[in-house]
Order: sequence, then structure tokens, then C-alpha cells
Amino acid sequence: MLVLLLGAGAIGFWKIGLPWWRARAPKPTGELQIHVLDVGPVEGDSILIIAPGGKSVLIDAGDAGKGKVVLDALKRYKVERLDYFIATHPHPDHIGGADEVLSAIKVGTVIDNGVDLSTPLPEAKPGGKGSKAKAAPPPPPPKKSKVKTVNGFFDEYAAALKQNGAQHEKAQPGKKYDLGGGATLTVLGPTEPFFTKDQMKAGGNETNANSIVLRLDYGEFSMLFMGDAEAQTEERTLGKDLNLKANVIKIAHHGSKYATTDNFIKRAQPEAAIISDGAWNRYGHPAQVVLDRLKAANAKLYRTDLQGEVTITSKGKLDSGKLYDIKTAREAKEDLWAGREAQKDDSSRSGFIAYGDFGPPPKAKAKK
Ligand SMILES: [Zn+2]
Repeated sequence: MLVLLLGAGAIGFWKIGLPWWRARAPKPTGELQIHVLDVGPVEGDSILIIAPGGKSVLIDAGDAGKGKVVLDALKRYKVERLDYFIATHPHPDHIGGADEVLSAIKVGTVIDNGVDLSTPLPEAKPGGKGSKAKAAPPPPPPKKSKVKTVNGFFDEYAAALKQNGAQHEKAQPGKKYDLGGGATLTVLGPTEPFFTKDQMKAGGNETNANSIVLRLDYGEFSMLFMGDAEAQTEERTLGKDLNLKANVIKIAHHGSKYATTDNFIKRAQPEAAIISDGAWNRYGHPAQVVLDRLKAANAKLYRTDLQGEVTITSKGKLDSGKLYDIKTAREAKEDLWAGREAQKDDSSRSGFIAYGDFGPPPKAKAKK
């Protein structure tokens, strides 16, 4: 009995008593896992990487309210702390759930693109009696509204990051993160100078264009993570002397027509393409033109809107004749190669984020 009690105490100490940075990592498996989480039906991205040595990386955290889905996944895969959280760009469908995640789990380092979208401080009113003598009045409390602004989402992310105590760094192209067990994550973008609004071609959005783009390598296996990159981002990447060839690619911007150009696919030569998208999106994600390009390139296609969570595993070398394996949570009931019809343009001009306008899913495209 005493032994049992002591044992339980020791386990308790191990679980709770040790500082967070020594919390138990998931068991090394010699296997790299990438889980493209299903944060639908409203659109978003969230991808969990568990390296062979147990280090974990979360790329984006889905939209507001999706933190629970992400945390559930972390629990499922026995991730008790994240070594890295990477916010590819400060749009709500990528950082909306970040505050929920950051306030629930310890994170070693948070990496973002350094773009600050905090709510601007109200400007002090010039003139007025005694305006010099009196200290500036405290800013009014943020308005509670059903429709949150992009700034509001960023404020929550920034506050949660501060409270988490994680280290914070700006993504530096070329920087490599050793994930242990032989897996390496390399930052490919965004490169400076960042794209500005007036530089964007028709339909482009500069926040998307400045997304963090990553490359993951493990032995012979490789994968690209495109964030919400735009065609211009891809073009810029192609102009650099970078290894872009990869077995698997997380397609840019939920399969938007503004990315995944022919030239980029030709360089990447992906065998498998993963599209993280939501069945309720109104932006025509994934675009038929993108699906057609992937089909022409002979890539296998996976979609979170039709198949749920997509899991890629690799031992970094051939294992039973396979370099990697891809599994989905469910079988697609609809044609994977059929794109969605756009009801809205996913560009900045039309207000790509129209929060509060998500309702029941758009009617399915009529079958030919
Ligand atoms: Zn997005």
C-alpha cells in the first residue's frame, strides 16, 4: 500500500511538480506525424506536427472557438506542451483560436511574421481646456460586438501570448528549427520587404501574401506548408534558390484561385496535396482551377472539408515499400475533384472576412 502511495506521489510530482519545460514529451516513435486538423465547417487552418523525438509544433489554431478542437487533438496525441506555435499570419481563421490554445497549454516559442495588427490607440484630442495638464484619459473599453474586427482578434492573440510566457520571435527566412529525431523545420518566407496593399495584383491580400511558409524535412520525406500565401508569394519564393521539391504540400490559402500557380506546382512536384478548408466557406475554396492544376500534376488530393482530419506519417525512409502514409478521418462522400462555387471574392477589396455572415452551408454544386 505504501509503495503504491509513494508511486502515485512520484507520478503526481512528475506530472505536476516538475516545471513545465520538463513536462513529459510524447513517446518517441521514430515516426514523424503531421495532423492537418479539421477546424471546419467555418474555414481555418491548424496543423499539428509531432517529430520523431517527441517535439511538437502547432501551425495556426483555427478560427475563434476552435481552440477546443485543437486542444482535444493535443490531448488525443498526448501533447502536454508545445515546443513551437507558429502563427502564419494574423487573420482570424488562423489565429482566432490561438488565445484559447495559448491560455491552456505551455508553449516554448511562438513564431509569427511580426506584423502587428493591434487595435490602434485612440488619438488624443488636440486643444481643449487643460488638455496639457491632465493626463490622457484611459482609452474607452473595446466595444463588445458580435462582429469582431481583425484587430480585436490580434489583441486577444497578443494578450494570450504575453500571459503564456512563451518566447516570441519573428520568422526569419532560412532559419532552421531542429525538431529532434532528425526532423527539421525551415522557414522559407516571408522575405522582406513585405508585400504592401498597393503592390498586390487584382484579388490579392497583403496579409495573406506575407504568410509564413515552411518546409519540413525528415530523412527522405519532405512537406511544404504554404499558409495563405498568394501567387505573388510563390513567385517570390521561386525566384530564390530554394529547395521547393516536396512529397506533400499543404496547399496555400485553402485552395484559393489566387495561389497554387502552375509554375509553383512544377517546382514543388508534390505527390500529395492537402487542402484545409471549410464546407461552409463562401469564397469558392477550393477553386476548380486549382484542383485541375493538381490533377494535371498527378497529385493525390486530400480535403479536410470532405474527409475530416488528414494524418501523414513517415519514418523518413521506405517502410514496407512506402516513404509515407496518409490517412483521413472519414471517406469523402462527394467528389474530391469538384471545387466550390464562390459567393464572395476572397480578396481584400470585398472584405475577405465578413464575420457573422456564416450560416448554413452553401448549396452543393449541382452534379454533372
Ligand atoms: Zn486562411
